[in-house]
Amino acid sequence: MPGGARTAVVTGGGSGIGRAIAERLAAEGHRVAVLDLNPSGGELALTADVTDRAQIDVALAGVRDRLGPVGILVNAAGLDGFKRFADLSFDAWQRVVDVNLNGVFHCVQAVLPDMLGAKWGRIVNISSSSTHSGQPYMTHYVAAKSAVNGLTKALALELGPLGVTVNAIPPGFVDTPMLRKAEERGLLGGTVEEHIGRTPVRRVGRPEDIAATCSFLASEEAGYITGQIVGVNGGRNT
Ligand code: NAP
Repeated sequence: MPGGARTAVVTGGGSGIGRAIAERLAAEGHRVAVLDLNPSGGELALTADVTDRAQIDVALAGVRDRLGPVGILVNAAGLDGFKRFADLSFDAWQRVVDVNLNGVFHCVQAVLPDMLGAKWGRIVNISSSSTHSGQPYMTHYVAAKSAVNGLTKALALELGPLGVTVNAIPPGFVDTPMLRKAEERGLLGGTVEEHIGRTPVRRVGRPEDIAATCSFLASEEAGYITGQIVGVNGGRNT
């Protein structure tokens, strides 16, 4: 592998997109730690809530101890939410912002010393295609994910000279437990099958589609790509 095996941390790696990313990075020879509320897979599976800095710090101490300093961080932990804005409680707003945005803050800050020490790092943030298009009843989610895109651009400028790239993938319409739960609850504005008919490539996205892009952004050869929002959405957003 050009650049060699790295220690990778994947938040939300116990399910869906995060799981596929963890499997892909492991298949490429990286040492992968999964941090999740219900972790599984990876070489190391650790329970941690990304909104709780103390839990993240303890988990990362375990990662460093077992797998070495972190070179790759993928922030895939996410929580959606559907509520008419007029009825949205501040608590619900805050939880969605906490998981999707503040979780990225905590995890990046916690791994950064390793990357700065090595003068090498790859950070990939999984945002959402709803940041292209907006999404009714998801103001908290879209606001948080849009902020993740903004954080990505600003942090890339700050960390570029220090050897660390920062990019975001805003996925659209990917077949995971999150998507299927939204479908079951009638919150997708149609079934997955109906959405496929409106998707230019005429299929639902697979977690592996996101994992392939993430793997490239985490690779040595993606070193000239930073501060980018790389859509993977079957052409639903251009
Ligand atoms: P998923 O299957 O629900 O996976 C999300 C994972 O994050 C779950 O394992 C979940 O754990 C974990 N998680 C939630 N809150 C956490 C927290 N506070 N601390 C640590 N882990 C936490 O959903 P997915 O579809 O793969 O989503 C992955 C990412 O892609 C998310 O950021 C999501 O917003 C984004 N995304 C997905 C789509 C799509 O079409 N699927 C579209 C746009 C964006 P539990 O299951 O135990 O709660």
